[in-house]
Amino acid sequence: MKNFVKFIIIFVFFVMIFSNYNLAYAQDEFYYTDNVEHLFTHCLLAYPEIALAKNNEMQLHYNQDCITHTEFKAILKELYKNNYVLVNINDCFKIENGKAVKNKIKIPVGKKPIIFSFDDVNYDHKKLHLGMIDKLILDENGNLAELTYKDNKEVITYDREFVCIMEDFINKNPDFSINGARGTLNLTGYDGILGYRTQKNNKINRESEIEEAKKVVAKLKENGWTFASHSYGHYHMKKITLENFKIELECWKDEVESIIGKTQVYVYPYGEWEITDNGSISKKHKLLEEYGFKLFCGVGMQQFYSYLPFDKNIKEKTLFMDRKVIDGFTLKNRTSNLKPLFDTNVVYDYAHRSLVN
Ligand SMILES: [Zn+2]
Repeated sequence: MKNFVKFIIIFVFFVMIFSNYNLAYAQDEFYYTDNVEHLFTHCLLAYPEIALAKNNEMQLHYNQDCITHTEFKAILKELYKNNYVLVNINDCFKIENGKAVKNKIKIPVGKKPIIFSFDDVNYDHKKLHLGMIDKLILDENGNLAELTYKDNKEVITYDREFVCIMEDFINKNPDFSINGARGTLNLTGYDGILGYRTQKNNKINRESEIEEAKKVVAKLKENGWTFASHSYGHYHMKKITLENFKIELECWKDEVESIIGKTQVYVYPYGEWEITDNGSISKKHKLLEEYGFKLFCGVGMQQFYSYLPFDKNIKEKTLFMDRKVIDGFTLKNRTSNLKPLFDTNVVYDYAHRSLVN
């Protein structure tokens, strides 16, 4: 009898510990099953005083399509304040029977998940010295840094481009990042990647550029950054021929995938997409799937994360996610769309944008 009582006491003790543990666990985190916010912007205006100056040929384009480094810093602060947490895009889906399906994300109670991605991270040589950085580099200590040539001198900075800014922000606010998540770099290949001329038509120093790019890619991956394809040549999906589309994908595989590794995420250039053609899955879409892409990202100011096409007669569905554009135009004109995320008035870089009139 004595032993039985002892057993009961020990049993109850363990049950209490176990249930408390579960309770604590359940209170801390939950599975988020709603739509995930996906924001994107372009490379930042690292030197807005140059980028938005009157004599800059890119002034109007930059003012519309980009945000300044101070705006980006303010956006991160606002998102954090409004209980958003950064998640890895690859955690938002899983593969079942060869197709991407939504995945539940475990995040702290009271938080909302967000994906942040960055388009056209190539530092196109045509845009050099017009207000963006020249390339992402590793400094002498092997840390991520930004390099810009100014007056023929190398200037190394750590607070002008989204990579270093986000790294710094997460260092100071580690709970902003779930499982070490960072952003996604959406790359093209026609003018290289990350500021390195890794494309085949670079006949001068392609090999060394590839070597340097690989080092930066390895560090980015180590820190939690991910990559997506934004096509090779930034084509218009509706206009490109099927033949050229195949060449495009081969170039991507040869010149970009060979450096960054495989990615299952495809980000349509100009947000222009095509999944069906004449009532069935389009040949271009089938090609994208053959090349290993599973999650497809468009552009839209409404949250959308679902399966396409809607057409019930087509059984094969594709997981599709829209992304909200954060740029000079939307900061100014889409205040209400962006309201739940951040207050555009707090974020807007009036000082530099007033250079444009
Ligand atoms: Zn683009």
